[in-house]
Amino acid sequence: METNQLLQLANEYGSPLYVYDGAKIELQYQRLEKAFNKVNSLKINYAVKALSNISILKLLKRLGSGLDTVSIQEVQLGLMAGFAPENIIYTPNGVSMEEIEEVAALGVQINIDNLSILEQFGAKHPTTPVCIRINPHVMAGGNSNISVGHIDSKFGISIHQMPHLLRIIENTGMHINGIHMHTGSDILDIEVFLYAAEILFKAATEFKELEFIDFGSGFKVPYKKDDIETNVEELGKKLSKRFNNFCKEYGRELTLCFEPGKFLVSEAGYFLAKVNVVKQTTSTVFAGIDSGFNHLMRPMLYGSYHHIENLSNIKGKERFYSIVGYICETDTFASNRRIAEINEGDILCFRNAGAYCFSMASNYNSRVRPAEVLWYENKAYLIRERETLDDIIRKQVIVDFETEPATI
Ligand SMILES: *Cc1c(COP(=O)(O)O)cnc(C)c1O
Repeated sequence: METNQLLQLANEYGSPLYVYDGAKIELQYQRLEKAFNKVNSLKINYAVKALSNISILKLLKRLGSGLDTVSIQEVQLGLMAGFAPENIIYTPNGVSMEEIEEVAALGVQINIDNLSILEQFGAKHPTTPVCIRINPHVMAGGNSNISVGHIDSKFGISIHQMPHLLRIIENTGMHINGIHMHTGSDILDIEVFLYAAEILFKAATEFKELEFIDFGSGFKVPYKKDDIETNVEELGKKLSKRFNNFCKEYGRELTLCFEPGKFLVSEAGYFLAKVNVVKQTTSTVFAGIDSGFNHLMRPMLYGSYHHIENLSNIKGKERFYSIVGYICETDTFASNRRIAEINEGDILCFRNAGAYCFSMASNYNSRVRPAEVLWYENKAYLIRERETLDDIIRKQVIVDFETEPATI
């Protein structure tokens, strides 16, 4: 988006503010679709947890997307956005049998990732088709917090447990209609992805009633200049060919599914915050903004890099700054960054603020969460109001100790 547009939105809606560029979401969606246009049946299920605003879900629905969800609440948001239950897949980890049954009753596709629940679910609901999440144990991730393929990962049913898995299916008579993997965020290497896919293809031959194979996500997007991103065009070419061949061998046309979060929304997001104070210490110049890790947690949680620009002085001479938040705890967004000269009152813009930013925001320090604006077809839509103190105290039950009778 243009600098002036962003500044205007910050002016109109106040700061801090999340802005999403609908056209970029559309572009990424269509890019993935095009990369796999040689596959007869492709299904892209947007991973709701990346950015779960209902209006964003509605935009994705318009593009033809389905949803990947990890909680019953995400399923309910998807239904509110107008998605048909059959266009929602539910891929939880470590949730209760009761929640899984509740979601299955809504008609949503269930994806089970452990043998204990699989056995219980199959015994009680043998006619409900289930997808199974396989862990191929391929390390595709960059950051250990988000790599889910390693051998002691809590995700998925280990590929080494296939005999046990098959026995459960035989004993319960349940129907497996899909097989799934999600090898973790940040796939750098297409060859690694294809290697994991081979493990999944091999496992797939054990199931006779498959309708789809779900390759999860982990597409990498650039966060800084010269960052490597997943070449989805190359992946599309290679995986489509292999997938089509597999369908021939399997004897049935299957649907190829993906569930990208970051790829679809990361670059569409801009987080705008105002500089409250420029503080020169003996060694560092800090720029303190009207936000903190309560609003954008990724740098503190994962050490993630977010590119920061000074929208108020875009062409200014660059100097070194540490950008910090107002949370009373170490709250650093960037250390020693070259940014165009900053003055108090300037608006800073954090890039790649679409995925895992607002969705991880909290009220820590009793701060309200920011507003969200969707910029789409040359119009600004306020898609979430800025919170107020009322939102913070809404669920609090305030005890009046003076009138409360004493208990013994
Ligand atoms: C988080 C998640 C995704 C999305 O991952 P991205 O890296 O954002 O694309 C997809 N599938 C499952 C099961 C997930 O938990």
